[in-house]
Amino acid sequence: MPGGINLTRSQLEAVFEHAKRQQPEEACGILAGDPDGSVRRVFLMENAEHSSILYMMDSTEQFEVFDQMEKDGLELVAIFHSHPHSPAFPSARDLELAFYPESLYLIVSLMDDEPQYHAFRLARGQVAEAPLVILDDIKESLDEA
Ligand SMILES: [Zn+2]
Repeated sequence: MPGGINLTRSQLEAVFEHAKRQQPEEACGILAGDPDGSVRRVFLMENAEHSSILYMMDSTEQFEVFDQMEKDGLELVAIFHSHPHSPAFPSARDLELAFYPESLYLIVSLMDDEPQYHAFRLARGQVAEAPLVILDDIKESLDEA
């Protein structure tokens, strides 16, 4: 169970882009990766609610993503969603609908010019901020030692 999220800058940018494209609706998706929280793959998903104040992953798409993760040997690191008009903090509804206590939750707020983002663990009705590390992308040109 990851204790925090390690995201690369370009993975974070992909989440921001998805969030901006889905405005004014909330956007959502899954960050999959290693048990230490290092994200290997970002799944950009559909908000089945098509709402600006809540999100629900499409159940068929969610099944396909979980299936793909299993095939690729990836763990669920975090579920992310955006808040078009409110801060990067879980709503009462987010807490109520947090069905994965083993997952972390990344929330991106688009209410300011620059996206704000925070990671949380949502379990048993409690909100706890979780560590979120943004890593520089590894350059392809690095020589093998
Ligand atoms: Zn929310």
